[in-house]
Amino acid sequence: MKKIGLTTTVPIEVLIAAGYEPFDLNNLFVTSENHLHYIDIAEQDGFPKSMCAWIKGIYGACIKHNVKEIIAVMEGDCSNTKVLNDILKAKGVILHSFSFPHSHIIQDVDREMKRFMKYFGVSTEAVEEIRKRLNQIREKVKRIDDYSFSKDVVSGFENHLLQLCMSDLDGNPSNYEKLIDDKLLDIENRSPNKKKLRLGYIGVPPMTGDLFDFVETLDARFIYSEVQREFSFPRFEMAKNITEQYYDYTYPYDFDFRVKEIQKQVKLRNLDGIIHYTQAFCHKAAEHILLKDQLDIPILNIEGDKLNVLDARTKLRLEAFLDMLGDLKVVVK
Ligand code: SF4
Repeated sequence: MKKIGLTTTVPIEVLIAAGYEPFDLNNLFVTSENHLHYIDIAEQDGFPKSMCAWIKGIYGACIKHNVKEIIAVMEGDCSNTKVLNDILKAKGVILHSFSFPHSHIIQDVDREMKRFMKYFGVSTEAVEEIRKRLNQIREKVKRIDDYSFSKDVVSGFENHLLQLCMSDLDGNPSNYEKLIDDKLLDIENRSPNKKKLRLGYIGVPPMTGDLFDFVETLDARFIYSEVQREFSFPRFEMAKNITEQYYDYTYPYDFDFRVKEIQKQVKLRNLDGIIHYTQAFCHKAAEHILLKDQLDIPILNIEGDKLNVLDARTKLRLEAFLDMLGDLKVVVK
């Protein structure tokens, strides 16, 4: 099978039907034992210090692993990805384009989906067959997410990682399903481990994966990870076809569409507070202004850059915020 790199979530059903093995360059970068090396490669090639670490990490991963083909998302991803694509193209990487239309009109999404399928020479039937197969795995990941807020038996990090890897099913759907099956068996036999505070995580996935375990040392747990959950397409059952599934995906579309789903989850999961993670030099950081306005819940903004562990200042801010949430919870009782 030919490998194809992803810089963000795209309809992998089409790629798999076309005989490709998609793999997410973000995951390759962030799970690497030496992630800073990928960033160094980018900076040595001229990427500025003042550019988001994800973009540099993806670039470094492409160069290091000699990636030959990628899906370039032309609409629905950030403008930094656009320049990244141009640079990779100049380096000889073959780009195949896909767009999440800004209009967010179902007919436009359908037109793009059909163009994408035609480009890769695959039929709707073949794509739907793969979608059906992947949805069996999505159902299991959704079950783990449900356990995370209803039964207190899933750690925040487990839920974060299992959902995150759904963007490419870790490069191999069958192996990933086996991993999920084993995890489910383990989780279903656990006793509840309740924490005082129920937290939500919103924003792009963090560079600092230790965030999830850190809050658990402070009697709190993330029981909602917004974007990671979107990568797992938790509302797949409501979609009648591939177009509807990728239409009902909040990440690439407008803010209002996204915030409605967050508001729904805040209520459903009975959250006490939210951590909004933003990446240094990312334009999305400004969305904090809107999120603070539109979410009726305490919210703390933390920022990560190149490090893959929390710095002392962020830890202190988290401690103070969780302390405040704990006090609030006692007062409200
Ligand atoms: S963190 Fe922000 S700037 Fe960086 S790739 Fe993601 S959306 Fe783009």
